[in-house]
Amino acid sequence: MFGDCHIHMILDGVYYRAAIDHQKEKPDEALIRQRLSDYAVRGITYLRDGGDAWGVGLLASKIAGEYGISYRTPAFNICRAGHYGCFIGKGFAGFEEYKTLVDRVKSLGGHFIKIMVSGLMDFDRFGVITDTPCAYDLCHDMIAYAHDQGFAVMAHANGDEAVSNALRAGVDSIEHGAYLSNETLHLLAETGAVWVPTAVTIANLRGLGRFPDAVLCPLTELHLENIRKAASYGAKIALGTDAGAYAVFHGQAVQQEYDLLKNAIGEKTDLVLCEAEEVIRKKF
Ligand SMILES: [Zn+2]
Repeated sequence: MFGDCHIHMILDGVYYRAAIDHQKEKPDEALIRQRLSDYAVRGITYLRDGGDAWGVGLLASKIAGEYGISYRTPAFNICRAGHYGCFIGKGFAGFEEYKTLVDRVKSLGGHFIKIMVSGLMDFDRFGVITDTPCAYDLCHDMIAYAHDQGFAVMAHANGDEAVSNALRAGVDSIEHGAYLSNETLHLLAETGAVWVPTAVTIANLRGLGRFPDAVLCPLTELHLENIRKAASYGAKIALGTDAGAYAVFHGQAVQQEYDLLKNAIGEKTDLVLCEAEEVIRKKF
């Protein structure tokens, strides 16, 4: 069974605000144990968290061994102040503040650095991203500092510019990666960075009526087509679900993501996913 290389232990797939409020004062250990136990029952032995500012992923990482799970967390995700991601992580205004946050991850026992370098897909408008991409120079400095501190870097990145900047700046993994150009798909393969496309976060929204299927269906198709192309160029692609995101439920999403990836990549799927997960387990 493959691990899930992108989850959010704090979230529940229903409503992020309520899920965060529920654990804001103190992580709900019973709930975390229930989720870990469910992952273990499904045969999942590796989880990589996307981070939260309230210590939920950190607590999970400390007790996951009891369930036979290797659990990696960035403690909290780091974002540009006023930009996407601050609702669940910590923002920085200047580079000194960024360095302080990286040092804080280290002192909390985080395993890697998670940076947010773009917004989300706007599910109401095909082709639109909700926030501006992080400039190359800042991307480069953030990744270089994290590497200097001995950390691998996971980047939340959507849109061609954000992903291309992060890849050229030496990022270790790209999360989501909507709307990539052919050139950037080649760059993925050339850099050896791992792509975690979290296709289920788009596919599971179809038919719910929350966003127009006229946007979601072509977006899913484009994403799967890009995954197929990236695999054919030799890019490393790993299974990650973003479990906890809207309509993406812990545990069951792993099979859903696998089915989507299999659809895109075909018979080489297991080989591709296995190789990429190995790289992630080693680096993160
Ligand atoms: Zn995420």
